[in-house]
Amino acid sequence: MERNDSDAVVVIGAGLAGLTAAATAARAGRRVVVIERHGGGGRARTDSRGGYRFNQGPHALYRGGPAWAILAEMGVPHRGHRPPLRGARGVRDGALVRLAGAPLARFTAQLAVASARRWSGRTAEEWVESLRGGPDVAGMAVRVSTYVADLGALPADLAITQLKLGLLRGVSYLDGGWASLVDGLASAVSAAGGTIRRHQTVTGINAVPGGWEVALSDGEDLRAAAVVVAAGSPAASRRLLGIDPGWDNIGPAVRAACLDLGVRGLRLPLVFGLDQPLYLARHSPPGDLAPEGGSVVHVMRYGPRDADTDRRELRDHARLAGVGDDHIVEERFLADMVVTHLLPDPRSGLAGRPGVVVADGLYLAGDWVGPTGWLADAAMASGRHAGTLAAGAGIGRPAYHRVP
Ligand SMILES: Cc1cc2nc3c(=O)[nH]c(=O)nc-3n(C[C@H](O)[C@H](O)[C@H](O)COP(=O)(O)OP(=O)(O)OC[C@H]3O[C@@H](n4cnc5c(N)ncnc54)[C@H](O)[C@@H]3O)c2cc1C
Repeated sequence: MERNDSDAVVVIGAGLAGLTAAATAARAGRRVVVIERHGGGGRARTDSRGGYRFNQGPHALYRGGPAWAILAEMGVPHRGHRPPLRGARGVRDGALVRLAGAPLARFTAQLAVASARRWSGRTAEEWVESLRGGPDVAGMAVRVSTYVADLGALPADLAITQLKLGLLRGVSYLDGGWASLVDGLASAVSAAGGTIRRHQTVTGINAVPGGWEVALSDGEDLRAAAVVVAAGSPAASRRLLGIDPGWDNIGPAVRAACLDLGVRGLRLPLVFGLDQPLYLARHSPPGDLAPEGGSVVHVMRYGPRDADTDRRELRDHARLAGVGDDHIVEERFLADMVVTHLLPDPRSGLAGRPGVVVADGLYLAGDWVGPTGWLADAAMASGRHAGTLAAGAGIGRPAYHRVP
């Protein structure tokens, strides 16, 4: 892109949100340049260690969610496998217990008739307490579907919608990891004529007559008709916008502590904490993420505390599930990961998240933006919306700026 290429769309960030926005605008015929300060992929990247491929903690793509539909529409290929639910175990009072069929079936039946709309404005805790049967199975299922440990802070309608998506439609552990989505979206950007500039950092955005100027840390300024800020967090976005868009007290992020393990030859059931917010699942097999005879096992605590305590607890959880120290070939501990940048207030639900439009030609995307979806579904739905608006920006009329 030339310095004065003022009809272009600039996208900041090559995570799922930014790549979706870029592919959408490029496929609509706009010239697009993506600026990414690292290698790309953000929290959807996959790291390879000794032949074991680790996502950033456990990642499952919701079948039938907005991301699934957007990937299909863009022709981004991905192959995955449903987690084997048979033999799943719970942990109560520090001991493994069978997840009995009857309470699970009772919960699933109640979920099937639950109306997200009827529960809007209330908390997931209130909904769980209203159910027949023990709250521990329901609480565990809510945690696994939303990553949120504090059910009193979680909108009930979000929990019900997510549970229905996860339990009734299922999820997919992706072959090759989530890098396959990142690579597929990046290819869609390139195929439509877009450019991705990696290892370059945006430092600010300024309004200029007829558009925007995007400043890079090396001193270069890019002119654009539209800018999509998909920089991951509200704080990073606020810094780039250079205005106060009114996001003080926006709400907490959802966080987790993750232990990613490459192990030799182990068959393990899913093992979920019933009285503690703990998770363990072997993602490979069924996903293709490990060398021959190996497995990738993700262990996680919803809501991290101090790193040493969490790491010890996750190791203990893995040991209880059957992972001995001598099974472990590769180990990575991620002490405090942001799963999604905003847990909205139960009273407002997803409608309370900041909108995609900041001003004409200036848009936001990310897993904390817009009224649609949760986690990667939100990142891609808002990316899609921002990319569509950016594609139409500055066409046939001068851009003007209305910053709230
Ligand atoms: C432990 C864990 C488990 C998860 N599990 C799931 C799951 O099972 N299912 C699911 O759907 N989702 C899951 N997620 C969430 C999912 O990974 C994220 O919602 C999604 O990847 C966020 O994408 P994003 O593009 O909004 O942000 P990010 O991935 O954070 O991307 C932001 C990008 O912007 C770049 N950037 C930032 N500032 C600048 C700048 N100034 N200049 C240039 N570039 C910049 C960054 O380098 C980064 O690449 C999980 C996340 C975690 C951490």
